[in-house]
Amino acid sequence: MNRFTTVLWDVDGTLLDFLYSQRYAITKCFRSNGREITEEQLKRYSQINDNYWKRLELGEISKEQLLTGRFVTLFEEYGITDINLDAFLREYQEALGSVFAYLDDSLAICRALKGEVQQYVITNGVTSTQRNKLQISGLAELMENVFISEQIGVPKPQREFFDYCLEHIEEKEKSRILIVGDSLTSDIKGGILAGIPTCWYRPDTAVNNTSYEPDYEISDLHQIFDIICAKDDKRHR
Ligand SMILES: [Mg+2]
Repeated sequence: MNRFTTVLWDVDGTLLDFLYSQRYAITKCFRSNGREITEEQLKRYSQINDNYWKRLELGEISKEQLLTGRFVTLFEEYGITDINLDAFLREYQEALGSVFAYLDDSLAICRALKGEVQQYVITNGVTSTQRNKLQISGLAELMENVFISEQIGVPKPQREFFDYCLEHIEEKEKSRILIVGDSLTSDIKGGILAGIPTCWYRPDTAVNNTSYEPDYEISDLHQIFDIICAKDDKRHR
């Protein structure tokens, strides 16, 4: 028997390369408005976006405020006043869900795990964007179910998000479920609050500056096989 029967996967920054999709979408939308986004603006947008997400995770702002506010802030900082915000937001969200790039052969890894464990997606993204990306990437069909914060009504790391997931997955023993994600403040903190084991997919050279200690840490998704598939009988050898 495997150590874990169930995996809850984060999507952005874990299975799929969010920065790739973000760069594509924002570049496209700037061009629609007759502009070229600079590398500096792109970098700044990433920081602004991360900030808004942190505030959402803390319950300080709503999803609507995040979706709009991040671009309002960007445009204000660079004195951009000639872009129609509503049209920009619509186009951005659509573009974001229209391209994807795998991280570490994530599709092949999820495919190989099919049958070994039950796999679910846990994500804070926008429903239509996430569904599109999961569909065209082929990941959706490998998942038993997809849990999106917008539909549940609360985002990761909040306890209610994971309570909802626990009610809707087959495995009832928390110790046999593994959360895999790149965010310490949403995936790992969420797992700790909910009492579910966690695996931090450490992006590049990131350092853990938080008080949230994951049970496992990996830097390449292939390492997940050793964690999930370790047989229970190993310790008897
Ligand atoms: Mg993530």
